[in-house]
Amino acid sequence: MKTLDIIVPVYNEEDCIEETFNRLCSVRNQLFDKLNVSFLFINDGSKDSSIDILKKLSIENHFVKVIDFSRNFGHQIAVTAGIENTNADYVAIIDADLQDPPELIIDMYNKSLEGFDIVYGKRLKRENETAFKKITAFGFYRVLNSLCNLDIPTDTGDFRFITKDVVDVLKSMPEHNRFIRGMVPWVGFKSAPIEFNRDERFAGETHYPLKAMLRLAANGIFSFSLKPLKFINWLGIFLLLIAMFSLLKMNLLSATICFVGALQLFAIGIIGIYIGRIYEEVLNRPLYIIKDKYNL
Ligand code: UDP
Ligand code: MG
Repeated sequence: MKTLDIIVPVYNEEDCIEETFNRLCSVRNQLFDKLNVSFLFINDGSKDSSIDILKKLSIENHFVKVIDFSRNFGHQIAVTAGIENTNADYVAIIDADLQDPPELIIDMYNKSLEGFDIVYGKRLKRENETAFKKITAFGFYRVLNSLCNLDIPTDTGDFRFITKDVVDVLKSMPEHNRFIRGMVPWVGFKSAPIEFNRDERFAGETHYPLKAMLRLAANGIFSFSLKPLKFINWLGIFLLLIAMFSLLKMNLLSATICFVGALQLFAIGIIGIYIGRIYEEVLNRPLYIIKDKYNL
């Protein structure tokens, strides 16, 4: 029988895990005659009792595998660890807070049987998320696509179902700055969306406040686009025109100097970001450190 591993990144989700586990179990039962389903939880350095709950679940259920990180490495890295530690024929990635309905994994599996290697959840409605989050998320996917030479589906998170072929390619991508929802479409293969309404968090709070969201957005843009670098060239040309214009006008001199100074800093900043990323890759540190594994 073919195998399915459901990857669940966990950071401070003590109030969600049991309910998520129960819902995943019902998915497992419904797929019982078709797939051999395991759950792979990655505890991303939770500070609450998440790991104790996960340990208990892994002792009671042979199909619950747990990777326990030495500290918090971030959502994208936790998912990466899941991908690198699976050998299943199919992999599903789902959040631990039940915002992505687990039952959809069954639909995703059925869709994949039609010949799709990637089936991704496309969000229609976001239940009880702030207007700010909705607007920034809406803008983010559209800006990203216009900057990147890549067709990243709009309004999709990491909730998706992929085949071993895709997983194997992802395993071979060593980049440190990981933006999984960009890396999966980069791989290629046939993909299809399944639309769903994003639910409210079952309990607890988002771990993607504005700062984390901006970091993820920057990761997406700088990992998949050199356009910000090219943009600097255009700025240069633009500045040249301004300089010529102010030469004619003379009086704009001080304003121009300030403007030029600001733009130079901006340009250096962008180059700095790319150099910083090169530095991180050159260091070649491990992406994450595993403290313990259970049932693995
Ligand atoms: N998460 C994680 N490490 C982190 C932050 C989040 O593993 O540093 C997990 C979290 O437990 C959840 C998923 O990633 O399962 C998505 O996080 P969250 O629900 O906070 O993000 P949102 O849905 O608000 O974008
Ligand atoms: Mg969430």
